[in-house]
Amino acid sequence: MTLRRSRICKGCWQQMHLPVPLHGVVSVPFRVFGIRPSRMNPNTCTICELMFTTVMRARKITIDATVLFADLRGYTTLSQSHSQDAISGLLDAFYDECASAIWECDGLLNKTIGDAVMAVFNFPIRHADHARQGVLAARAIQRRWSARRKTLIEPLGLAGAELGVGVGIHCGELSFGEFGRSHRDLTAIGTVVNLASRAQSAAAAGEILVTQAIHERVQSDLAGSRPREFQLKGFEAPITLYPA
Ligand SMILES: [Zn+2]
Repeated sequence: MTLRRSRICKGCWQQMHLPVPLHGVVSVPFRVFGIRPSRMNPNTCTICELMFTTVMRARKITIDATVLFADLRGYTTLSQSHSQDAISGLLDAFYDECASAIWECDGLLNKTIGDAVMAVFNFPIRHADHARQGVLAARAIQRRWSARRKTLIEPLGLAGAELGVGVGIHCGELSFGEFGRSHRDLTAIGTVVNLASRAQSAAAAGEILVTQAIHERVQSDLAGSRPREFQLKGFEAPITLYPA
């Protein structure tokens, strides 16, 4: 499956009604000036990145957004018993499937952290139903990975390896900005990010766990989902999570 590529930057079109071409002959003059598809979401461009970076140098911005963490369970264990060369393709394939799923739902693939990815929805491409976009992306990640997994691990003689994906999603107000002085690191921080990450840790391989806040916004897609309570690291009170 390939990503449906947008011909113009979705971010610039939404924010400024400016048609910035991303592909083909018409994009060549733009590329001369360094305007090209963003690596965090190829349907947005480097102007979008720059715009936000400039804004954020002045001040951090607070946005209502959805944060998704997806982690490849069992990869760390595997990396201890196998050579890096043998299994590095697995992680690349995992990143690729996550990226495609996230971009199809207009999310930003913000970071890859070891064997996990972090995505943000509602930035820079706006979506009133960003919580739902997050859930759809999570389901697409699970679907894509279970289709891809077998063809990857069998040739490596890893048929017994679990290698499922655990996903956690949460939404709310978060700070988006440049953090870290040594290199430009555009990212989100705050409780919303922490809880999304903890929800991911609580998810079993092949499972998606979402918070109460997500459940409130995406009820129609989560009909019949039975909540469970979890004691999560860094949170005193038990946290209710819903399988999605
Ligand atoms: Zn743009």
